[in-house]
Amino acid sequence: MSVSQRLFNFSSGPAVLPEPVLLEAQRDLFMLPGVGMSVLEISHRSKTFDRILQEAEADLRSVAGISDDYAVLFLQGGASLQFSMLPMNLLTQGRSADYVLTGVWSQKAIAEARRVGEVRVAGTTEGERFTRVPRQQELDLDASAAYVHLTTNNTIYGTQWPAMPDVGDVPLAVDASSDLLGAPTDFSRFGVVYGGAQKNLGPSGVTLVVIRRDLLARSASTLHTMLNYAVQAENRSLYNTPNTFGIYILGLVLRWFKAEGGLAAIGERNGHKAAAVYAEIDRTGFYRGHAAADSRSRHNITFRLRDESLEDAFVQESTAAGLDGLTGHRSVGGLRASIYNAFPEAGVAALVQFMREFERTRG
Ligand SMILES: *Cc1c(COP(=O)(O)O)cnc(C)c1O
Repeated sequence: MSVSQRLFNFSSGPAVLPEPVLLEAQRDLFMLPGVGMSVLEISHRSKTFDRILQEAEADLRSVAGISDDYAVLFLQGGASLQFSMLPMNLLTQGRSADYVLTGVWSQKAIAEARRVGEVRVAGTTEGERFTRVPRQQELDLDASAAYVHLTTNNTIYGTQWPAMPDVGDVPLAVDASSDLLGAPTDFSRFGVVYGGAQKNLGPSGVTLVVIRRDLLARSASTLHTMLNYAVQAENRSLYNTPNTFGIYILGLVLRWFKAEGGLAAIGERNGHKAAAVYAEIDRTGFYRGHAAADSRSRHNITFRLRDESLEDAFVQESTAAGLDGLTGHRSVGGLRASIYNAFPEAGVAALVQFMREFERTRG
């Protein structure tokens, strides 16, 4: 299959990767230049892999503006394991943690935290079927909480926090799986940022954790070694064998970010891409956005057809037209276009054109 025959991939994750990254990985898979072995074959303790890891971390720090006050970890187990690791490390005895409930993923995070200690739900929009995120004045925050946790982008509902709430001096811990590095971000606002790489940064099997170093002091020495942030940080993610291939690909994606002009350029492009789809959704009323206007996600665009009985035909025909993965999540229904950092503008244009044509023939 040639490059031009690739589909436009609207999958919610694992998701589209930059074409130059796939082509470089393909070209070098048999043998890394100057190394004589495949990246799949080398030791995680080798000089070559050490360079790959160091460069990935350095590029992440420079692209995202992450200072040395933070440790950068490349772990495994997905965001789902972070639902457990975060409270195991930071929810120290006798304290409670504040969680904001904005959908299925925050629900799962809460369920795991409750296995560890006391959890308060500091705000939720469940009564509105998670069509928006809470406003600042709707949050009931405990100033003595161990941390505040929220989901920055709710992949399933297509909602996103337009800005981080003010949580005072309590560390803010976020699941950013579906909007990692989607726009310039002030990392100094966060205590912990985590997410699976497979939506915005790379392949599945690598989990990024960025944690303020002073918080590492909370990790008890009685924790299981592999689940201890402080151990992972001391060992630079090399306590055991990490996902070497995944980190290699993630490093290529970060280099692609740099070549594209960094987060400012990526963020601006993400804004344009989302605006184009929302404009089409709002144009006539034939389509209807799921998320409230002030909580609309730039990465997962959820929508329905006014006549829901046409949704199956929409999916079938869009798939046939080379637009793959537009079926909505079962808990919301309808359609969902996931357009992460590597999703091309040409794919957005193709979706908008398809939506117009579908409306013209069925509307
Ligand atoms: C996809 C997703 C997850 C689950 O990630 P895994 O890496 O599969 O564990 C968690 N949170 C959010 C917001 C997601 O989008």
